Amino acid sequence: MAPERFFLELSPPDASLKTLPHVVIVGGGFAGLRACHRLIGKPVRVTLIDKRNFNLFQPLLYQVASGLVSEGDVASPLRQMVGHAPNVQILLGEVEAIDPKAKEVVFNDRRYVYDHLILAAGSGSSYFGHEEWRAAAPPMKILEHADEIRRRVLMALEEAEQTPDPSRRKVLQTVAVIGGGPSGCELAGSLNELMRHTIGRDFKQLNPEDTRIVLVDPGDRVLRAMDPSLSQAAGHQLEAKGVELMLGARVQQIENGAVVVGLKQTDGSVVTRTLEAATVCWTAGVRASHLGTLLAKATGCEADRGGRVVVQPDFSIPGFPEIRVVGDLCSYSHTADGKPLAGMAGPAVQMGGWVAKDIMAKLAGETAGPFRFTDFGTMAVIGPMTAVADLRGLRVSGQLGWLMWGLAHLAFMPEMENRFSLLLKWLWQIATRERSSLLITGRHDQHLGVEVGLERRELSELDSDQTATQTATGTTSS
Ligand SMILES: Cc1cc2nc3c(=O)[nH]c(=O)nc-3n(C[C@H](O)[C@H](O)[C@H](O)COP(=O)(O)OP(=O)(O)OC[C@H]3O[C@@H](n4cnc5c(N)ncnc54)[C@H](O)[C@@H]3O)c2cc1C
Repeated sequence: MAPERFFLELSPPDASLKTLPHVVIVGGGFAGLRACHRLIGKPVRVTLIDKRNFNLFQPLLYQVASGLVSEGDVASPLRQMVGHAPNVQILLGEVEAIDPKAKEVVFNDRRYVYDHLILAAGSGSSYFGHEEWRAAAPPMKILEHADEIRRRVLMALEEAEQTPDPSRRKVLQTVAVIGGGPSGCELAGSLNELMRHTIGRDFKQLNPEDTRIVLVDPGDRVLRAMDPSLSQAAGHQLEAKGVELMLGARVQQIENGAVVVGLKQTDGSVVTRTLEAATVCWTAGVRASHLGTLLAKATGCEADRGGRVVVQPDFSIPGFPEIRVVGDLCSYSHTADGKPLAGMAGPAVQMGGWVAKDIMAKLAGETAGPFRFTDFGTMAVIGPMTAVADLRGLRVSGQLGWLMWGLAHLAFMPEMENRFSLLLKWLWQIATRERSSLLITGRHDQHLGVEVGLERRELSELDSDQTATQTATGTTSS
C-alpha cells in the first residue's frame, strides 16, 4: 500500500517528526539551501518554502543571457537537491506575510506555524524610482530575465540581417549595458564575444565591425568594489576586446531603443547624450525582497534604504530570537570594520550555514561560537579566458584570473551534474568559439514589448493566420 501522504494538512508524514521543533526556511537560494543542507538528519523538522521549484546559480546568469549555456546548466530542482531527506519538506509558494506574534507565515492562502524562521528571500532589482524603465531595459536577476535578454539580442540580429538601411542595422547591432559592476562587465564582455565573433561568422549580411557594446556607469571606473588596479585591468581588457566604456554617465531616461545619459565632463559640467541601442540591459541596482519591509512593519525592526533587515550578531531581530534573516535580505555589520557584508553568494552561504548551526546549538542548550565571515575574495569575468580576481590581496588578471574564476565557480556550483555540463560547454566554447544555447524562445504574450520588428510581424501574421483558420473552421481557442 502506498504510504500515507500529508498534502492537505501539511503535517509531517512521520509521527516522530511531529514532536520536533519546526524550522521554516523561506527561500532556497544560496543562504536558505545551505541552512537546509546543514539541518538534514538533525532532530528538527524542516520546511523549505520557495516560490520557484529550483535553486538558481545567479553568478552565471550572464552566460544564459549570452547563449553560452542553457537554463538547466545554472539551476537545479530543490526537490532533487534536498527533497530526499526524511526531515525536509519542500513547498512551492510565495510567502506573502509574516505574523511574528502568532509565529506564522502566510503563503498560498494558508497560515503555517514555525518554531524557528529563517528568512532567506534574497533581493531583486531596483530602478532607483524609475520603474517605468524596466520594460525597456530588463534586469538580470532570474532565469526569465536572462532568457529575455538573449531573445532581444538575437531578435535584433535577425532583424538586422534583413534590414537594408545601414544606419538602422548599426542600431540593431548595438547593446547598452547599464551598470559597471561585476554583472555588467560580465554581460558586456560575453555579449561582445557573441556578437563580434560567433554572429560575425553565422550572419551573412552583418558586419561584426558594426557591433557596439556600450557599458554605461556613473563612476570613474568599472568594478568600483574592487581594487583600482583590477578595475583598470578590467577596463583595459574590455576595451581591447571592443567594449565601449561610457563612464561618468548617469542614466536620465530609457525608452525602447534609446538611453539618454548625462555625461560628466572634465570641467564638472554635464552634457546630455542619447545612445541608440536596440537592446538595453539593466544591472545597476539591487533592492532586498519586500519581505524585509514586511518584517520591519510587523516587528518594528530596522530595514535600511535598500530594504535589507538590520540584524543582530546572531542574525535575529530585536525581540524575536526565533526569526533569523540571512543572505541578501539582511544587513549584517557586526564585522571588524563595521561595514555591512556585501550582498554576495559567499556571505549568503556562510550566513545560512552558521544560522542552522546556531539553531541546533540553542536547541541543545549550548551556544555556537560567534559568526565570523571568511572572505575568499571577489572575481569578474571580462571575456573568454579573461578575468580579474582579488583573492585576499592576491590580485590576478587575464588567463590565470579566468582559471581561478572557473575553478571557484565549479566548486561553488551545488550540483555535480551542472559542474560537468558547464565544464564541457566552456571547453567546447574555448575550442570552437561556438555557443550551444543560441535559441530564441519565449511566448509572445510574455514579452516585454521592445520594438524589434520581426517579432511584431510574426505576431500579427500569426494572429491573422489564426483568425483566418478560425473563420474557416468555425473554432475559437480557449
Ligand atoms: C546576475 C548576478 C550575478 C551575480 N554574480 C555574483 C558573483 O559572481 N559572485 C557572488 O558572490 N555573488 C554574485 N551575485 C550575488 C549572489 O547571487 C547573491 O548575493 C545571492 O544569490 C544571495 O543569496 P540569497 O540566498 O540571499 O538569495 P537568492 O540566492 O536570491 O535566493 C532567494 C530565494 O528566495 C526565493 N524567494 C524570494 N522571495 C520569496 C517569497 N516571498 N516566498 C518564497 N520564496 C521566495 C527565491 O525564489 C530564491 O530562490 C550575483 C547576482 C546576480 C543577480
